[in-house]
Amino acid sequence: MKVGVLAIQGDVIEHIETLKKLNVDVVEVRLPEDFKGIKGLIIPGGESTTLIKLMKRFDVDKEIVKRYKNNKLAIFGTCAGAILLAKTILNHPNQPGLGLIDIEIQRNGYGRQIDSFEKKEKIFGKSINCIFIRAPVIKSVGKGVKVIKKIKTPVLIEEKNIIISTFHPELSDSTVIHKHFVDMCKNI
Ligand code: GLN
Repeated sequence: MKVGVLAIQGDVIEHIETLKKLNVDVVEVRLPEDFKGIKGLIIPGGESTTLIKLMKRFDVDKEIVKRYKNNKLAIFGTCAGAILLAKTILNHPNQPGLGLIDIEIQRNGYGRQIDSFEKKEKIFGKSINCIFIRAPVIKSVGKGVKVIKKIKTPVLIEEKNIIISTFHPELSDSTVIHKHFVDMCKNI
């Protein structure tokens, strides 16, 4: 099975390495034609404004929305990726996004870069070091959204074929969250 990683900006390599540990064929996605044959796409953390600008320049945003709405693609967004998938970005309402998951999110919700932190938590029965880097905060979730993990506020959630985390599972040495996503892709 093939899974893509949006390879425009951000922590692309770390996601690729994690997927390889799960024996998945990984495709670097930069252009609409790169989506051929992939069942899932990871939108990595980075800088959401930069990511969306570059996605728009090459029509990658339209391809993601079209494929997701046609049930042809599962999506995993981490941090900046989570911001771009949210229906509402509270403190940057004019920033364009993909608007595919029914949540309200606040960019840089814990403060500045210096307020970044790590926290060991149990997720899917396994201990994982959750690394938050100038992370967003999910302020509200819609009815159809399942909260998998909360650390005061929801940090790992899913709706239909989308999963998002406000932290960076690809920077921990755990593969459980990626494994959950790969299983989601298998149902596409
Ligand atoms: N602060 C970044 C943004 O708002 C996200 C940071 C990250 O992806 N680690 O886009």
